Amino acid sequence: AKANGRGRHTFFTTAMEEQVRARENLARELRRAIDHDQLSLVYQPQTTINGRKVLAVEALVRWNHPTRGQISPASFIPLAEETGLINDLGLWVLRRACRDAARWPHLKLAVNISPIQFRHPQFIERLASILSATGFNPHRLEIEVTENVFSHEDPLVLQMLQRVQQKGIRVALDDFGTGYSSLSYLRQFPFDTLKIDRGFIAGLETSPHASAILGTIINLGEALGMSVVAEGIETEHQASFLRLTNCDRLQGYYLSRPVPADEIGDVEIRLARQ
Ligand code: C2E
Ligand code: CA
Ligand code: CA
Ligand code: CA
Repeated sequence: AKANGRGRHTFFTTAMEEQVRARENLARELRRAIDHDQLSLVYQPQTTINGRKVLAVEALVRWNHPTRGQISPASFIPLAEETGLINDLGLWVLRRACRDAARWPHLKLAVNISPIQFRHPQFIERLASILSATGFNPHRLEIEVTENVFSHEDPLVLQMLQRVQQKGIRVALDDFGTGYSSLSYLRQFPFDTLKIDRGFIAGLETSPHASAILGTIINLGEALGMSVVAEGIETEHQASFLRLTNCDRLQGYYLSRPVPADEIGDVEIRLARQ
């Protein structure tokens, strides 16, 4: 860089330093947010394919920043992963979700687990201690992981997956179809649930091949003995297409947006009436 001349070197360094500092500040604030209850959870229902009955809820984290307002998880989860804060954040989410979900003993609870959190050597012990501290039935819990969990050549990952399942916890493969080798992961790892990425559902209205691909993925999941969840359902058209398939659960704005815990009961009543 120095060979390019002093001015340029200084310019880049300053811009980079500023970026680094901004991230450090945000990371510090995120640390504080975890410790001082600035995080909250909303829950999005997953319904039967007729859309009338709620079967499960997916917990989704929110950061209510005192000055910046609500920050999207799409921007702070990556920061949490880079800084290692994801481990504490993820435990906070699990603890809170298991407590909240005590109000809905008839529903399953789905919680997103980052690859870094999943691969942490103490993850399973910590998960087990949260379940026992909250008295949460492990059979009601489903953790959602993406194929990034498996992208490292690590034979321990299969063992971890099986240890989680031995506790009665189900494991869902999230965002299915967006990665590079989704099919080979299905062959190697015994997932309980397949969550089809919403890109396939969004394509239904526009791409002539989308319905064939979607139908085939659903049948594949079914044939492998998995529960199949379609997410990102936004329209009546998409919902009625899925009604003709073997899909097990629907999730998306068409059925319900993610809502605070105390609104889940109202959503159940609304869906049952329609
Ligand atoms: P995800 O796991 O794929 O979660 C689904 C995302 O799609 C959520 O965004 C949800 O609000 C949104 N969504 C639901 N229905 C629809 C729909 O019909 N149309 C569209 N366009 N979007 C829909 P959200 O809450 O912003 O979360 C974004 C991502 O952040 C999640 O994607 C997940 O990867 C991550 N995330 C959220 N909460 C957590 C958490 O507690 N832990 C970890 N590790 N990651 C989380
Ligand atoms: Ca998810
Ligand atoms: Ca997803
Ligand atoms: Ca099925």
